[in-house]
Amino acid sequence: MKVRVEYGRRQLMRLLSGGAVALIFSSKSSQIWAETARRIAGKPRTVMLDPGHGGQDPGAIGVRGTREKFVALDTARAVGKLLEGTGRYRVLMTRVDDEYIPLQGRVEKAQAAGADLFISIHADANRNHRIRGASVYTLSEKASDAEAADLAARENNSDRVAGIDMSKHEPIVNEILYDLARRETNNLSQRFAQALVGELGRQVLLMDNTHRSAGFVVLKAPDIPSALVELGCLSNAYEERELNQAKYQQKLAQSLARSVSDYFA
Ligand SMILES: [Zn+2]
Repeated sequence: MKVRVEYGRRQLMRLLSGGAVALIFSSKSSQIWAETARRIAGKPRTVMLDPGHGGQDPGAIGVRGTREKFVALDTARAVGKLLEGTGRYRVLMTRVDDEYIPLQGRVEKAQAAGADLFISIHADANRNHRIRGASVYTLSEKASDAEAADLAARENNSDRVAGIDMSKHEPIVNEILYDLARRETNNLSQRFAQALVGELGRQVLLMDNTHRSAGFVVLKAPDIPSALVELGCLSNAYEERELNQAKYQQKLAQSLARSVSDYFA
C-alpha cells in the first residue's frame, strides 16, 4: 500500500513537471505560430520606443548641464524615423514631447499596443567622470553587479522625482504562470540585448561588461521582450559633447535600428 502511495506521488510529480514543460513548450510554439502567421500576413512588428524621463524629471544632468530627457527623446525620434523608413515596423513612442510618463504607464502603453519589442532609451551620469561608453541592460531580480543595482535605483527613482507613489504600481512577481511567461520573454530579451551590444560596438565606445542586468521597473512587462540602453555618460565632458551632436545621435540611432532588424531577422 505504502509503495503504491509513493508511486502515485512520484507519478504526480512527473505529471506536474511534464505539465510545466508542456506549458513552456506550448507558450513557445504559440509564439512561433504567431510569428509565422504575422510573416504570412506581412504584418509589421510593433516596436515601442521609450525615451526616459521627461517633464519635471530631467533624468541625469551632464557636467555642462545637458539633460538626459532631451538626449533620450532626440535619439528615440531618430531611431523611429530609421525604423519607419524600412516599412517593416509599426513604431510607437511612450512620449513624443517633453512630458512626464510614470514608469508603469510606459509598460502599460506597450502592453495596450501589443508591442513585440520595448526599448527604453537613456543616458547615464557616473560619479567617476572619466568613465564613458554605452551599455545595455535587461531585467533580473538580482542585479548582475553593484553598479547595475545603483543604476536601476537611479532610473526607478524617476516616479519619486515626479511625486508619484510607485509602491502601488509594483507588478506582482510571484505567480507561476508569470514566471513561465517571464522565462520565455527573458530569453528573447537576452537575444535582443546581444544584438544591441553587437551593433553599438561597431559604431561607438562601449563600457566594460557592456551587458548587465538589474530590477528596472520599466522592463517588467512579463510578455514583452525588452532592454534598456544607456547611450553614454553625460558625466564625461567628452561624451556629453558627443551626445549633444545630431551626428552622434544618428550613429547611435543606426545601431539601435540595426539591432531591431537583427533581432527580428
Ligand atoms: Zn535615465
